[in-house]
Parts: sequence; structure tokens; C-alpha cells
Amino acid sequence: MNDYIKDFPILNQKVNDERLVYLDNAATTQKPRAVVEAVTNYYYHDNANVHRGVHTLAERATEAFENVRTKVAHFINAPSKDEIVYTKGTTEGLNWVAAGYGRNHVKVGDEIVISYMEHHSNLVPWQQLAQQTGAKLKYIALQADGQLDMESVQQQITDKTAIVALTHVSNVLGVVNPIAKIAHITHQHNALMIVDGAQSTPHMKIDVQALGADFFAFSGHKLLAPTGIGILWGKSSLLAEMSPLEFGGEMIDWVQLQKTTFKAAPWKFEGGTQNIAGVVGLGAAIDYLEKIGMDNIQAHEQVLMQAILPELSKIKGLTIYGPQEAQERTGIIAFNLDNLHPHDVATALDMEGIATRAGHHCAQPLMAYLKVPATVRASFYLYNTLADGQRLVEGIKATKEFFKNGTI
Ligand code: PMP
Repeated sequence: MNDYIKDFPILNQKVNDERLVYLDNAATTQKPRAVVEAVTNYYYHDNANVHRGVHTLAERATEAFENVRTKVAHFINAPSKDEIVYTKGTTEGLNWVAAGYGRNHVKVGDEIVISYMEHHSNLVPWQQLAQQTGAKLKYIALQADGQLDMESVQQQITDKTAIVALTHVSNVLGVVNPIAKIAHITHQHNALMIVDGAQSTPHMKIDVQALGADFFAFSGHKLLAPTGIGILWGKSSLLAEMSPLEFGGEMIDWVQLQKTTFKAAPWKFEGGTQNIAGVVGLGAAIDYLEKIGMDNIQAHEQVLMQAILPELSKIKGLTIYGPQEAQERTGIIAFNLDNLHPHDVATALDMEGIATRAGHHCAQPLMAYLKVPATVRASFYLYNTLADGQRLVEGIKATKEFFKNGTI
């Protein structure tokens, strides 16, 4: 598994005189040569606008664009490629569901249930929808270790619930939520299960049908693909009832002076010229991931966590948020060191060539729930090694010493 580093030219560099250890994968991932080359080749050889042209390049571009839809459907086990909608990313997908589906279906007195661990992208759209429709926004509580409290799940989801929207994996706590179980409860109350897959899809095999999801959104850039391309999957019956939000070229069927009819899903959502090169890059990223195998990627991250978490927990003054057991989490570790400001810790780690992230991680209600203003976050991916984990452990120890001695 460690060999994969060689496929990522960006990782072969020094930062502050040290070999770069990139541990900011929850924010975005690096791109393998195969993805960069797929995008470059597309621009060198096939670039054209899709669907509208009959010339050879337009046909090639259209074929590439539509083939990736089929590839994505297989990747997440969607029943049909026509349920795969191209978006800019998770944020856009979730906003489209809230506005395009929610505004048509949610009414005063209905309830929308989310949790305290949601990323703002799976919180603010529902808050907006609640404000626009008069629905009530409710929160599922967390256990002390950061896992969803299943008693709270049972209490909050009721016959008044219209929508349950949850993240599959927390971008701070690294916990994997039991979506299939919660989807079962959700459906017993005739509500919809909407899943934010931004932090799960890159790290494990996704089966939207086994999860019991009704909508599922993820971002390409967190799984080796370019920025600006993402996927919204929805059940075809729901996509049929969902309104498009971008009106214009490409998405129409017939335009008259006073009225317009639209194409069927997924094309009715894809107004205007799409991020075709991004789609091509996403296809190459999926090929790369599938060649390794999603199960192998998940197992690799588990090996890293099993080795690193015990080492980290030996460091006095280090608080790790979320479950302490490696098997209950993915490769995301949010922490604070003594009473140091997370930005100072992340800056000190950067001086050692280690890229982490500090801040609220777009999860301010979770920070309030944890009673901290911010955390440092190290997040691993398939190209990270045990040596990278060791560098993080040593880097944190060095940071502690720096600040103790006042020599930073
Ligand atoms: N949800 C979660 C859990 C995330 O971690 C992120 C990205 N940080 C998003 C949603 C939003 O993804 P994007 O910015 O790619 O739209």
C-alpha cells in the first residue's frame, strides 16, 4: 500500500526542509498522475461541449461524460445511471435536495432531524428550509464518546418527521454512523433518509441501497478527483419529484415564449455547460480507487489508526475527540494539546513538514457541543504510511516541548 506515494508527484517534496507528510485529506486529497493525465488528455485530444454536437470531438466528449455516470452508479451500487446527478460537490447536492425537493414537500408542522455532528453543508440548508417552510429543526444528541445516541435517534424521529439528514462519517470525530439502522427507523415513520457521504465515500465501499438512503451526496476532490465535481444520487421516483434549480441551456426539453418543459433526471438538474474535465477526472479517480479496492483502502487506514492512536494517547495533555477505539473510526483524528491554541499547534507541525488543519472544521455546533472553540485535525488516506503516523506523533511531542520551553 505504501507504494502508492509514487503515483502522487506532489507528495515528493520537502516543506520546511522535511519530507512533506500530508495529513489534511479530510479537507481535500492529492491527485494521482492517472487523474491529472486523464484531465490533460481530455483537453489535448477530446475537448468539446457535450450532448449538442454531432462532430467527432463532441461525440467523444459526450461518451466520456456519460460513461462516467455509469461508472459512478457501479461505484456506489446505484440501481441506475440515470439516478447519478453531476454537481459541484457535496454542498451543492445537499442544497439542491433541501431546496429542490424540500421546498415542494416539507410543510408547517413537519420536522427535520439532523445531528450535532453535522458539517455546515448538512446543517445550514436544512435550517434554511425549516425557516422557509415553518418546519421544526431537531438535533440527535451524541454520546460522551461522540457516537450518535441511539436513544435520541428513537426519540427525535417521529411520525412528524419529514426528513432525516445525517453524515455517514463525521469530518471531526471520524465516527461511522449506523445509517442502515437509522434509515430503517426513518422509513418506519415514512420520512426520507438523506446522507452526507463526503467523508465516507473516499474511505469505504459504498452501497446506497444497503444503506437504505433516499439521497446520497459526495465530493470528487475528497477521493482523488479534481475540485468542482461531485455527485448527488437520488432514487428515481424522488428525482422525478424534485425541481431543478438552475434553468437554462442543456436541461430543457422544449422552450416556448411563456412556458418550458424540462428533460428527465438527471439532465434536468444539469443546466449550462458542465465540468466535463472534472467528470473525466472523477472517472479516472474511481478507476484508480477500484484497482486498489475500497476494502483494502479501509483496511489500510485501520492499520494506521491501530498503530497511531495508542501512541498518541500516551502523550500527556493530548485530548483526542471521538471514540478512542480505532475500529470505531476512520482515519480522522481531531485533537487539542494542553491549552495551546490549535492554530499554534498546526503551525508548529507545519514547521516540521506536517500538514494538518486547525479550526472549527465547518462544524461550529459540534465545537459548541464539545465545548471547545477549535481543534487540530490530522486525516489520513491511502498514500499515508506508518512512518507518516510516527512523524505526527514525534511532531506533536516536539510541539509540546517547543511551547514548554518557549522556544518556538
Ligand atoms: N460534509 C462533510 C462531512 C464534509 O467533510 C465536507 C467537506 N469538508 C462537506 C460536507 C462539504 O464538501 P464540499 O466542500 O466538497 O462541498
